[in-house]
Amino acid sequence: MSEPEAPERIRNLGIIAHIDAGKTTVTERLLFHAGVESRLGEVGDGTAVMDWMEEERERGITITAAATHLPWREHLIQIVDTPGHVDFTVEVERCLRVLDGAILVLDAVPGVQAQTESVARRARRHGVPMLAFVNKMDRAGASFARSLASLRQQIHPGAIPIQLPCGAGAGFDGIIDLVRPRRLRWERGAQGLRWSEEPVPEEAQARAGAARDELCALAAEDDEALAARWVESGTLTPEDLAAALRRATLAGRLLPVLCGSALELIGIQPLLDAAVDYLPAPGDLPPVRGREPGGAAAARAPRAQDPACALAFKVFRTGKTDLVYFRLYSGVLRAGDALVNARTGRSELLQPLWWMHAEQHEPRAAFGPGGIFAVPDLPEVRTGDTLCAPGREILLEPPVFPQPVLKRSVEPRDPAQRAAVAEALAVLVREDPTLSLEPDPETGGFLLAGMGELHLEVAEHRLEREFRLAVRMGRPQASLAETVTAPSVAEGWAGLHGQDPGAARVEARVRLEPQSAEALSLERAPGLEALPGVDLEELMGPAAGAGFHGPQGYPLRHLRIRLEALRATGAPGAPSQELAAGAVAAAVEQALRGRSIVLEPVMALQIEVPEAHLAQVLADLQQRHASIQDVRAEEGWQRIEARAALSRLLAYSTAVRSLSQGKALFDLRPAGLAPRPPASA
Ligand code: GDP
Ligand code: MG
Repeated sequence: MSEPEAPERIRNLGIIAHIDAGKTTVTERLLFHAGVESRLGEVGDGTAVMDWMEEERERGITITAAATHLPWREHLIQIVDTPGHVDFTVEVERCLRVLDGAILVLDAVPGVQAQTESVARRARRHGVPMLAFVNKMDRAGASFARSLASLRQQIHPGAIPIQLPCGAGAGFDGIIDLVRPRRLRWERGAQGLRWSEEPVPEEAQARAGAARDELCALAAEDDEALAARWVESGTLTPEDLAAALRRATLAGRLLPVLCGSALELIGIQPLLDAAVDYLPAPGDLPPVRGREPGGAAAARAPRAQDPACALAFKVFRTGKTDLVYFRLYSGVLRAGDALVNARTGRSELLQPLWWMHAEQHEPRAAFGPGGIFAVPDLPEVRTGDTLCAPGREILLEPPVFPQPVLKRSVEPRDPAQRAAVAEALAVLVREDPTLSLEPDPETGGFLLAGMGELHLEVAEHRLEREFRLAVRMGRPQASLAETVTAPSVAEGWAGLHGQDPGAARVEARVRLEPQSAEALSLERAPGLEALPGVDLEELMGPAAGAGFHGPQGYPLRHLRIRLEALRATGAPGAPSQELAAGAVAAAVEQALRGRSIVLEPVMALQIEVPEAHLAQVLADLQQRHASIQDVRAEEGWQRIEARAALSRLLAYSTAVRSLSQGKALFDLRPAGLAPRPPASA
């Protein structure tokens, strides 16, 4: 029986970058060098191991974060490959939530790009320490100096080289290691396998010495004893320097910068070394915080002896099986253990425990703190759930996902495939918390809501490819509701045989009362309230709690429905549930007739945008009739808070992206419902 890795030997890493900077290639190369992959995958010909979904291979981009792991220097590096496209921010957020460190990959020709900046900003928001890898040093026009300057200016003022490149473009063949001064040379075309170590050459000594001095000065900056030793001896030992660099990186004070070429397999081994040397182990992290079911604050330390707690950070369907990906924060989990889902109270049997390597898996007997693994067949577990040791429940804060913005109807092209489409959509929604599904009152079909056009397009393609279902998708739209603005009382009835006075008949009287937007949750349909002493459930069956729709076909919101009277005539005994429900529905309909108004969702927007793009973004918001509530500077960026009707924000993610060259970070949250202005009705 294998024992779990000690938490100090694990590095949980994300590889983050602007699209095409080389995340997938870098991951492939790391795997290759760790000896896991014997064959090198190439993104260009669609054989990369990590890009395994059909959709990804076809588009040549990474959509779903795939987990993998590799051994290096008696450590275990676990990597989650993340997507670069903004419509898939959910994947990036998920990864940042469960990862402890990140490698920020740059293309050495453009240096920092739009999404390098937003993804790094997200990482810093989560407090994830980073290394930067200036990739593609083999390209014509590659510049380490320019990339470093853009890192300092746009990502982190503490960006500091721990290597220098030897040559650039076609002449690039290695690096100078500044921590342990030496020249590393790779033979081009040898797949990174033939490389040598030499002393720093004469002509590079001045340049390397100055760079090392700068590195030592910064690393020793907040350590008096170390700074004194540096001043005294004029240098720092590689061990002292590495230890100081590790502390500074973990604290977020410095961003070590490396370089290489993933394509030519240059600089990959030192990148693995740096991940082990400078990025945090689960044991370096503070205890993870959450709440006990009673609401009391609780924490779990990353130790084997703490009660087990694991966060479900991803649900994914592969072939026929649903896989739930977990990160274990504390305790030891053995295959066959039962943990309690803190959300549902259900006990879940965790068996088998799979160690993932892209789409391959390997059963393992146990995982310890920091372990990342997947478990098949857990239909009741959702993304964001916490699973805990029985009796020691804790609810970890689930990852925060942005609300879906766009909604499109989905209809099977072949009506016979209705049930299959419903089932497939349910699978997609369970996997991706930024997708949501509701019935389409207009077509009787489904409405699928997501983060943007590409997001829904990928869902459509997945239906076609993975599920072999052809569908028709409608135009993007926002969801509407109905309410009344003044109290209204009405009666209604339902009977068995029309108006035959001798037959059973039920009459109901209801009162509708408008409620302020704050009084009711946006999501909840109004329940029916009865007079004291009346058991609605018994009277009307489970339908008593079901949502009503208004005469214009939208669900009712912002009002209270009070049942004031319910009377059966013509037949002895209690009224039948069916008749009672019919009478109440008729009374509600009557009370709404001619009075209902349409509500539309209003969104609270938070946009973070570089100063240079502020004016365009604000002008665009004004055109969308948004009310700007606040604009303020934050770390050199501008943060805008505004409100606008969702109908005015269709395709906003695409718009704000092009207005800001892809840099803006934005968050849209439902802020309530407001009457739809007559103009747009
Ligand atoms: P991702 O979108 O960040 O995952 O980027 P990929 O790994 O898919 O790489 C994008 C493109 O850049 C592919 O065509 C790669 O072959 C190419 N690429 C990756 N690394 C390098 C490199 O070091 N040098 C050069 N010249 N091309 C590279
Ligand atoms: Mg990729």
